[in-house]
Amino acid sequence: MSARVLDGGVLADAIRAEVADEAKALLARGVQPGLAVVIVGEDPASQVYVRSKGKACMEAGMHSETIRLPAETSEAELLAVVDRLNADPKIHGMLVQLPLPTHIDADRVLLRIDPRKDVDGFHPVNVGRLVIGDPAAFKPATPYGVQEMLIRNRIETKGANAVVVGRSNIVGKPMANLLIQPGKGGDATVTVCHSKSRDLPGICRSADILVVAIGRPEFVTADMVRPGAVVIDVGINRVPDATNAKGYRIVGDVAYEPVAQVAGAITPVPGGVGRMTIAMLLKNTIQAARLQS
Ligand code: NDP
Repeated sequence: MSARVLDGGVLADAIRAEVADEAKALLARGVQPGLAVVIVGEDPASQVYVRSKGKACMEAGMHSETIRLPAETSEAELLAVVDRLNADPKIHGMLVQLPLPTHIDADRVLLRIDPRKDVDGFHPVNVGRLVIGDPAAFKPATPYGVQEMLIRNRIETKGANAVVVGRSNIVGKPMANLLIQPGKGGDATVTVCHSKSRDLPGICRSADILVVAIGRPEFVTADMVRPGAVVIDVGINRVPDATNAKGYRIVGDVAYEPVAQVAGAITPVPGGVGRMTIAMLLKNTIQAARLQS
């Protein structure tokens, strides 16, 4: 069997086009949705993400601000920037790119963001809203993108056994919370695994839908996947590759080729979930602009 490939690029482009239409409609009412991204320090991967977010915003006809702060910025200075953005009517959504330098308490910074502008969905108010199934919650972009991929590819989650491997606050936990909510893209029976789980391969094999977000290159192998299962690979890992001009290549948390022989559907890396994340962030910014206008 060869799995159906779930193309994140095509879907993300479609969502970004929808977002651009919605931004245009808001602009016609005098509201230009605005997103601010704050980055502290020079982490190269974060710099790439932040540039992509700003570019995507502009392409969707949205207002974009990127605030670049030096690595030695104090927590108080960063909090003052957050306060300023909270009060800025041009900014409907904001996020502070993680990770932050270790001298800054990331939780304190997240708490300072106005929950109405928290388009990453990491503020405890939005986490709580997500858990209780409040539609006003901002869904964290990566698991939101996964859910949207399942819905738009007509993959039935209702009654399915879904296994989420990874329990981070950014991916694993919100993913599990989205999949258990009643309604479209939910109603699954969800198991969450982590590094202390016993018999991980056995639990993975019980999955109709397997979502993997652990940051371990090609960790999930074909023997861990039930024939016909849907495999969603969230992982983005750099592995050394002398044949590549950059000296590395990007792989997921799933051994793609062998697993694609067993699975019913699979997301590639790159070109899968990763492409969806920014599209969903833009969608959240539209939601924020609507709520505030
Ligand atoms: P974290 O490091 O925050 O969390 C990893 C989770 O995986 C932890 O819960 C950890 O368990 C679990 N884990 C680690 N090793 C194992 C193992 N051997 N067996 C079972 N569970 C394990 O990572 P993130 O959630 O932030 O990211 C996960 C992956 O997704 C990374 O590759 C990251 O680059 C990628 N990512 C991709 C995004 C995208 O846009 N596509 C966005 C965000 C992340 P424990 O809690 O017990 O330590």
